[in-house]
Amino acid sequence: MIKKLKDFPRVSLCHQPTALEAMPRLSEALGGPNLWIKRDDCTGLATGGNKTRKLEFLIADAIESGADMVVTQGAVQSNHVRQTAAAACKFGLDCHALLERRVPNREPDYEETGNVLFDHMFGTSIEFRPAGLDMNAEAIEATNKLAKAGRKPYFIPGGGSNEIGALGYVSCAYEILDQIKANKLDIGWIVLATGSTGTHAGLLAGLHAAGSQIPVMGISVRQPKDKQIAAVYKLTKSTAAKITEKAIGVEKVIVDDGYVGAGYGQPNQGTLDAINLIARREGVLLDPVYSGKGLAGMIGLIGQKFFDTKKDVLFLHTGGAAALFAYGSQFSVAAE
Ligand SMILES: *Cc1c(COP(=O)(O)O)cnc(C)c1O
Repeated sequence: MIKKLKDFPRVSLCHQPTALEAMPRLSEALGGPNLWIKRDDCTGLATGGNKTRKLEFLIADAIESGADMVVTQGAVQSNHVRQTAAAACKFGLDCHALLERRVPNREPDYEETGNVLFDHMFGTSIEFRPAGLDMNAEAIEATNKLAKAGRKPYFIPGGGSNEIGALGYVSCAYEILDQIKANKLDIGWIVLATGSTGTHAGLLAGLHAAGSQIPVMGISVRQPKDKQIAAVYKLTKSTAAKITEKAIGVEKVIVDDGYVGAGYGQPNQGTLDAINLIARREGVLLDPVYSGKGLAGMIGLIGQKFFDTKKDVLFLHTGGAAALFAYGSQFSVAAE
């Protein structure tokens, strides 16, 4: 059944609208179109990030289903797990998380600092897993075990990426369109880092439902383009079907996989350069797993003259700076 966004169960977790700010000094340094940034790193929950918007809908659904705890999964330095753990605390739910040792060549304190430090602070119970498992299947199994033991667990998939969580980015799409209108901006493209797909899919579904023609460029942080497009499109269709009768075509899902580097959670020189550049030009902290690759992608596309410079470009900052502490040594060298 098609509903308006306001008719879905939702709790309040997010400082919103998040700011939409100009980046004149970064625009000048890159010599391309005028650049703007949507500050979803400042959603307000436990150092912020994009999962907070999704959790407004997921936690509401958990509460409606009578849950007393949430179960989720992510990589060790998962921003999603950290935000889920914080949201659970706010609503008196326990949080159980499975953390996958997905990233090779980790720093010595990788499993204690950054997001993991905050997970512990929120009282999360944690189980580690080796790399390469089907982590959603593992988390569902853990959920079933907890239910058998008498708990009322609610399963949240990795990244909060299902059609309930993606509603958070339908909401963000509407918010961006309101801000574009209020500020009389001419945005030619929106650029973001795309991972477990909920952010990209929700944004596309929301823009589509609102009748916007603004294209979205997803910079893949993990998968080859074809796989990422298929995954994003699947969730875009099912999310859009909740809010509009208009079908959405696969051509709306645009992905560039040229900035993944060696793999998930492994920044390359381009990622580190992008993080250092925006820090020194705009005082903004990106992260080495997602938004740093997203900005590296935007910089690369500006270099290729991909964007029409008569229109502005909006970078969606999805958060993640808490993970920087787990990558410290990669930045101390670059501090010249
Ligand atoms: C999870 C995450 C993303 C990717 O969002 P998805 O919805 O998983 O595609 C981007 N940036 C940061 C900082 C994240 O934590």
